[in-house]
Amino acid sequence: MKKDIFKKIYKAIKDHQTIVIARHIGPDPDSIASQIALRDSIRLTFPDKKVYAVGIGVAKFRYFGNLDKIDDSLLQDPLLIVLDLPNKSRVDGVSFERYKDIIKIDHHPHEDKMGDIEYVDEKASSTCEIITLLINNTHLKMNSEIAAKLFMGIVADSDRFLVPSTNPITFDVAKNLIIKYKLNLTDMYNHLYERPLNEARFQSYITLNMTVTENGFGYIKLNNDKIKEYEVDSSTASNMINNFNYIKGIYVWAFVSYDERQDLYKVNIRSRGPVINEIAMKYNGGGHKLASGARIKSPEDIDLLFEELDNACKLYKESLDIKNKETNV
Ligand code: AMP
Repeated sequence: MKKDIFKKIYKAIKDHQTIVIARHIGPDPDSIASQIALRDSIRLTFPDKKVYAVGIGVAKFRYFGNLDKIDDSLLQDPLLIVLDLPNKSRVDGVSFERYKDIIKIDHHPHEDKMGDIEYVDEKASSTCEIITLLINNTHLKMNSEIAAKLFMGIVADSDRFLVPSTNPITFDVAKNLIIKYKLNLTDMYNHLYERPLNEARFQSYITLNMTVTENGFGYIKLNNDKIKEYEVDSSTASNMINNFNYIKGIYVWAFVSYDERQDLYKVNIRSRGPVINEIAMKYNGGGHKLASGARIKSPEDIDLLFEELDNACKLYKESLDIKNKETNV
């Protein structure tokens, strides 16, 4: 079944001379790595094709490689491959109307249908895991640079193999990349995890100042004065949200930072039990069951979102209490 869809994807790639690869706005390592790795693999396999990885770049992910600038209205019969994106509204750098042939490859819960060929595996740890399987199961080529990008995307999105979507295939795929392409783990982890001391201090500030409700909801609203004081930026908190997993008594946690450029509040939400994406969706957000985000215009909506998240923790805690009682009887 998987192999059939991989064959279809490969055939569509083979049949198109021009290919555009897009992903979601506000890229993370998985979306950027999968996009650039797939582009480089297609270029390596078919040197004559024109293949572009598009969207706005982020300085701290520059080590994954450069993105391409295109005017997609000028392209001849292009194929669009959309990665790591469940809903059309969050695509970066392309207009869907300009493409007749579209392939979607994703590991988020399914939202919008985008094209005739769709491969959505919610059980996969990351889009990079799926792209590795696609390359391994077709005539697409890989080299050690591509392998390193894919490995880093898997490690980042699985939060170092901690998130529940980590599965035996994730380990198998990662192990094979390491062995076959002799990947240097230290180099890759330096890229992914080295950070300045002020960021570590800022993380301590969040730990010390996070509010935790009696239901196990932890949150902090970060104001721009604090962000300036620690010499970080509004995306810094987002990048450290995963570090707050496995804190006893916290089931859901959220950070709010204000994005001055877009004049909206960015909320990062994580959970180790209650389902949060359905709540986030009500507030211009979405994502995975246990890793979601939202973009919110009004401070009142943040409070409403937090009320719902706190309530989800309450219900979850009650269900845990019932379970514990049952097992003790
Ligand atoms: P983040 O907290 O930004 O790392 O995002 C966690 C997950 O939620 C990722 O899968 C994002 O693609 C998704 N996500 C973040 N913000 C939004 C949003 N406003 N709408 C839909 N999905 C989102």
